[in-house]
Amino acid sequence: MSTVVVDPLVLPGTDELRERALAALRRCGVTTAGHTGDTGDTITVRTPITGADLFDIPAADTRDVAAAIDAAHEAFGRWRMVPAPARGALVKRFGELVGRHRADLADLIGIEVGKIRSEALGEVQEMIDICDLAVGLSRQLTGRTMPSERPGHRLMETWHPLGVVGVISAFNFPAAVWSWNVALATVCGNTMVWKPSPRAVLTATACTALFDRAAADVGAPANLNVLVIASAADAAVLVDSPRVPLVSATGSQAMGERIAPRVAARFGRVILELGGNNAAVVTPSADLDLTTRAVVFAAVGTAGQRCTTLRRLIVHESIADEVAARLRAAYARLPIGDPFTESTLVGPLIDGQAHQSMARALRQAVADGGTILTGGDRRPTGTSAFYVEPVLVRMPAQTAIVRAETFAPILYLLTYRTLDEAIALHNDVPQGLSSSIFTTDQREAERFLAADGSDCGLVNVNIGTSGAEIGGAFGGEKATGGGREAGSDAWRAYMRRATNTINYSGALPLAQHIDFA
Ligand code: NAD
Repeated sequence: MSTVVVDPLVLPGTDELRERALAALRRCGVTTAGHTGDTGDTITVRTPITGADLFDIPAADTRDVAAAIDAAHEAFGRWRMVPAPARGALVKRFGELVGRHRADLADLIGIEVGKIRSEALGEVQEMIDICDLAVGLSRQLTGRTMPSERPGHRLMETWHPLGVVGVISAFNFPAAVWSWNVALATVCGNTMVWKPSPRAVLTATACTALFDRAAADVGAPANLNVLVIASAADAAVLVDSPRVPLVSATGSQAMGERIAPRVAARFGRVILELGGNNAAVVTPSADLDLTTRAVVFAAVGTAGQRCTTLRRLIVHESIADEVAARLRAAYARLPIGDPFTESTLVGPLIDGQAHQSMARALRQAVADGGTILTGGDRRPTGTSAFYVEPVLVRMPAQTAIVRAETFAPILYLLTYRTLDEAIALHNDVPQGLSSSIFTTDQREAERFLAADGSDCGLVNVNIGTSGAEIGGAFGGEKATGGGREAGSDAWRAYMRRATNTINYSGALPLAQHIDFA
């Protein structure tokens, strides 16, 4: 581990953060946060910036979750008959309000999740981008027509809304991932019940207030998106309800393993966006200046707490020492600290549990023969916040700990001799979210993109594993869950398809020439 002595970080006061959160909520139109009934349950809002508790928010119980489903179901009866372009008008207005409250939402994301300013603002920009995409989509929910084998017949597809979509979201993208769902599900004619992460309930409350204001502004019905701030146990109602035809869940593999069989047991559908264990292959022809910058952003951005964070770097043995030296130099210069300070690039871990998992993983990596090249220490703060130095570990092999997702800024460096060996290492993990190759050799790039190349849902050349654009479908394979959200044709997952055959001939010819006279 590094032995460099560093000064304690200067952090904002807890009262200052509380006031900043309240002011942002007020500007977004929030008058009360949390469930309005009296269940006796509460969820504590804590900031990772100082580790302090800020507020206790009343939580919903199972009856409230059931009532939320009823309300969203009732709204669906009206919303599905609103023409899709008119539904797009709501999303357009919502995108405008998000743009106007960009700084407020970024404040709440910073306070609850500890994202640095530019990444928090980037998350809000992603919300605006998906609204733009969904508005265009509201005029393009197209079905196909196919030639019928029978004279005087027409064969076509129509797409209809599904119903109530249950959205379960993770702490690390507390606004953007919900907005991917809400923008598409809304133009597709669905309504939603949203269960956010208990670690980001203020952000969820502000987003919901803006969405409700947008609905009122365009004269849309109430309860198109009903927020339930509830524990995972109480949210089970959402998972099990036959009135929720689609559950879109973002979070850990363990969460997916718990909910997917339950939704399947009632023949519901899921969109699963689960953990990743993303890798980049660096070949001898790579541009190492570009590679170093891309690797640092992908590995340490959001303090290693993105689903797409780069966790494994698979480097050709001939350049491994040079790549390691460049990364050590870059890691030594990383500004770690208060996410609201403009120059900070690495904010805090979400909590002490995240720090424990990181420390456990590092101990195991060293026990497996790994060498810590730089980082790994916790920075002193005098608070119960967890600021850590991103860490680079050289591993002799892809051991079990390397094959698991540890949600912290640990980058394992592995070496390879042949590209086949690199791709085999790359794919030999349970998860399949994001991947990159750094090369200037087109043959190597094409090999990585081919059917026997990377097995991930996102496969990049000369950019890092994180930071996807909303225009493409986002999601991953294997234990990442197979779901797709955002652009391309991801909207189809929020609709049901009907195949229509129309006979305008006056005769009744049967398909496959069956004679039934
Ligand atoms: P988590 O699994 O702890 O929680 C995610 C959400 O699921 C929370 O709202 C939680 O309350 C809820 N939940 C958990 N068990 C549930 C149950 N039985 N019923 C209903 N709800 C339940 O994840 P987290 O710590 O908030 O987020 C980090 C994880 O999310 C990482 O594994 C990360 O890779 C993953 N993630 C994936 C993507 C993606 O797009 N693939 C995006 C963001 C985060």
